[in-house]
Amino acid sequence: MLKTIPYALFILFLTGSLCVAAAHAQNRPYVVLLSLDGFRWDFPDLHATPHLNAIHANGVKAVSLKPSFPTKTFPNHYSIITGLYPDHHGIVANRFVDPHTDKTFALSNAEKTNPDYYGGAPFWAVLEKQGIKTASYNWPGSETLIQGMQPAIWKPYTETIPLAQRIDTVIHWLQLPVDQRPRFISIYFEEPDKTLHRVGPESPEAGNIIRYTDSLVGLLHNRLSALPFADSIHLIVVSDHGMTTLSAEKNVVLHDYIPEHWLRYPASGSPVLFIKAAPGYYDSIAAQLKKIPHTKSWPSAKVPRKLRFGKNERALDFTIVADKGWTLITQPHQKPELGNHGYDNSIRDMYGIFYATGPSFRKNHTAKTFRNIDIYELLASLYGIQVPPNDGNAKKTKRLLKKHP
Ligand code: AMP
Ligand code: ZN
Ligand code: ZN
Repeated sequence: MLKTIPYALFILFLTGSLCVAAAHAQNRPYVVLLSLDGFRWDFPDLHATPHLNAIHANGVKAVSLKPSFPTKTFPNHYSIITGLYPDHHGIVANRFVDPHTDKTFALSNAEKTNPDYYGGAPFWAVLEKQGIKTASYNWPGSETLIQGMQPAIWKPYTETIPLAQRIDTVIHWLQLPVDQRPRFISIYFEEPDKTLHRVGPESPEAGNIIRYTDSLVGLLHNRLSALPFADSIHLIVVSDHGMTTLSAEKNVVLHDYIPEHWLRYPASGSPVLFIKAAPGYYDSIAAQLKKIPHTKSWPSAKVPRKLRFGKNERALDFTIVADKGWTLITQPHQKPELGNHGYDNSIRDMYGIFYATGPSFRKNHTAKTFRNIDIYELLASLYGIQVPPNDGNAKKTKRLLKKHP
């Protein structure tokens, strides 16, 4: 009998603390983070975007969101979700070579889901470790176990399911019983980027896709507003980078200056290339790089500090970036595009958007531009949790919030 009393007390304590933890989790806010790939900061000034404007009227927006270099999709989404520059989280491009394994990470091969490439702690992993459920619809990195964690609900990457149907799925997740319902949902839409590469950001067709993606923001906002717990939902709409216009004449062909056999790895990914010298060719490449017009290049360890890039081994020996609007290709016959991004992250056309509404955000407030790595600490303050050390700074976004933490 005496022996069973401490045991019973322990069980009581355990169930008590589990209940406290569960109740605690239930008091957490809901956050839906939507990314519109390639939505440039000034599109709302150039086209009718009533639904983004409504988020601003009911919440906040930043003048623009500064992307990280290189201004490509995977590096930037992974920066948003980890608070780290690409140089620090390791997803340095959409396609890159790891010099230790000689393997190529690409969005189209199996390396995409190899956890070894992904440094840092995605925000969903931080929440899941604390017992807070998360879900992701195609956010870069969500198809992979990182830090031993993955969103409780996730989807293999797809572009075939219509965007509006994906919103239905997200709303369904928010209607699950409370113990299964995710508190943090990250959503990735491949538009307007996909269309803008093809038609260019200044074309008449650009307006159609920009207005369409804005209408999807409206659809998501309305569906969230109709949920019984709408008052505790935050909706944040961001983009990973902007987009600039290309022209068919502005092409630089790498191999016109550097013969293929000087390179250990084939290079790809205009307008940014990382190259590794074949044995004995480092100095010849260094001399030739200076002669390539409409580009800037550096030994990767000496990339200017403002780009916060180049120390990662995956940046290889040299980093080359084309000037705005120029295309840097390895073969003359590569398919032309009318829009692109990836350039220096201080070029205004590369800046993205930040809009947010929900109980913690101020109303009708416009904030100064901040960097996308600062979103991680902002998410942490919405949940009142600590996140691992990162490159962001909570002070940069605190004016977005009603009560300054
Ligand atoms: P980019 O514009 O080159 O930076 O890359 C954007 C493109 O990457 C999109 O149009 C998609 O086709 C593709 N993409 C985005 N996320 C994924 C993913 N998780 N898996 C495979 N491809 C993706
Ligand atoms: Zn993108
Ligand atoms: Zn793109």
